[in-house]
Amino acid sequence: FEPPLAVNEPIYDYAPGTECKDELKQAIRILKSTEVDVPMFIDGKEVRTGNKISMHPPYEHAYTLGHFHMGDKSHVESAIDAALAARKEWGSLPWQDRAAIFLKAADLIAGPYRARMNAATMLCQSKNAYQSEIDAVCELIDFLRFNVQFMTELYAGQPESAEGVWNRLEYRPLEGFVFAITPFNFTAIAGNLCAAPAMMGNTVVWKPAESQVYSAALIMEIFMEAGLPDGVINMILVDGPVAGDVVFSHKEFAGLHFTGSTGVFQHLWKTIGNNISNYKSYPRIVGETGGKDFVVAHNSAHPDEVATALARGAFEFQGQKCSAASRAYVPASIWDKVWEKLASQVKSFKMGSPEDFTNFINAVIDEKSFDKISGYIENVKKSDDAEIIIGGGCDKSKGYFIEPTIIRAKNPRTVTMCEEIFGPVLTIYVYEDDQFEEILKICDETSPYALTGSILAKDRNVINYATKALENSAGNFYINDKPTGAVVGQQPFGGGRASGTNDKAGSILNLYRWVSPRTIKETF
Ligand code: GLU
Repeated sequence: FEPPLAVNEPIYDYAPGTECKDELKQAIRILKSTEVDVPMFIDGKEVRTGNKISMHPPYEHAYTLGHFHMGDKSHVESAIDAALAARKEWGSLPWQDRAAIFLKAADLIAGPYRARMNAATMLCQSKNAYQSEIDAVCELIDFLRFNVQFMTELYAGQPESAEGVWNRLEYRPLEGFVFAITPFNFTAIAGNLCAAPAMMGNTVVWKPAESQVYSAALIMEIFMEAGLPDGVINMILVDGPVAGDVVFSHKEFAGLHFTGSTGVFQHLWKTIGNNISNYKSYPRIVGETGGKDFVVAHNSAHPDEVATALARGAFEFQGQKCSAASRAYVPASIWDKVWEKLASQVKSFKMGSPEDFTNFINAVIDEKSFDKISGYIENVKKSDDAEIIIGGGCDKSKGYFIEPTIIRAKNPRTVTMCEEIFGPVLTIYVYEDDQFEEILKICDETSPYALTGSILAKDRNVINYATKALENSAGNFYINDKPTGAVVGQQPFGGGRASGTNDKAGSILNLYRWVSPRTIKETF
């Protein structure tokens, strides 16, 4: 069995008049004409508790999409039981049989489910059509297909054998179940966080973010249609602390696959640490957490390129990417030109519902996010350290709308240059050209994170110098590009410091975390 070599799924652009656009509009109409009813999925069965939580698009409070069924402690327990019961058979299947299921799932997403996946992500997570397409369709497909390619490479890795001896490495799954906690901002990440461990023979209990449950349920439907056996992935809709209490006190908890906030991740790590002597094995802990991602421009950079990297890097999907450009350092000599271009790009962004495909900016995810982001903006209005130079408007009357906002910092260590905001807010510090080296030091020191960052420069020596000076500041470092949009199979994604364990999503390195190899030596 040689799986086809993975290639990245081509992206549809949803231009006016294209067939794919008509299909997507139709999928949105169908979604809006049905009352969405999202169950949990435990042991291959849909579970409805009747404890219904209603779902509203973040951009339109008045509209009800439907509801999901909230579970409790007993559902976490049955999900763990189902995962443990399915483990033996699933883990001992030839890996090709597991791979085939996920390759089929990728084809289902590329074909019959494409428009539905996009419609669900657009309406429930408030993403525009293009941002949904690159996430819920292309990136998710890429994760599945490339992971299969990485599986071939991983399983082929075998040790040397001396004469009269045959050494083997048997890549076994972990002994227990894996818990996946997934974020709202990328449907693809949610899918991959449970698929990657499952592909390596593990069984999984999955808790998606409340605001992503509809696309999560579609992923379950797709996996099941592709032939995923009962109990391999179990999706629960339960309050975090309730789920955590059951999962982290279970003897057979074997791994955590997490994307979310640094604070939650650290709390979970401590909980796991406190329980460490109760587990059968040391659990694997893999997490991608926050970011305070930077763009450093040098005076040899082209001002238009700096402007575009900032406009797109900071404001796509309302800045709700861990990788979003949220602080920038621009030299005084090119600032006027950068600003002219940047301001005109940002002013041209239309804001509103993703159902209108001409809107580039949509709502932020929920009230908690809205309050946090608008709080930062309000504080800047009162501060002497920084001023808002574009945007700043926040309105939650109809939906959670925040204008794309640019802050100019008078001090490179002001709050919004250091703390993660996770919204459409970019802070720029304009430095004197001869301060470049000092700016790199400040950039490295001012935030605890190290996820993504960019240097824009034409001068090769400057590029080399900055690449070295910022070697620990970003797990994904971009030269002459925006710091977002890592592509599976091309730019393995993840960062260090407070940004995570840097186990590179979309690479073989991540898959190694989900196996517990046995070395076998046979002497003849
Ligand atoms: N992989 C995404 C990117 O490169 C970001 C993922 C995230 O927000 O967690 O833009």
